[in-house]
Amino acid sequence: MTKIVKLQVISPPNTETKTIFTLDDKDILFKGIALESHICGYCGFVLAENVMVYNYHDIILQCPNCKSYNGAPKNDNF
Ligand SMILES: [Zn+2]
Repeated sequence: MTKIVKLQVISPPNTETKTIFTLDDKDILFKGIALESHICGYCGFVLAENVMVYNYHDIILQCPNCKSYNGAPKNDNF
């Protein structure tokens, strides 16, 4: 069963130190084979579906729906 993980909306990041993943259209940014789906912390849009527990240390996901920047989930979601 897929676990839904809500990401944490963050301030626009420093693009010199972070890699931002985004898409122009409203599609899921990452698809994988494992057990978690990660959703936008603001609007709930699915940003990553069935991914391994992803390391958000160096990347930011920008929601294509609401343009929020999403970083690591809050610890209490794990
Ligand atoms: Zn969003």
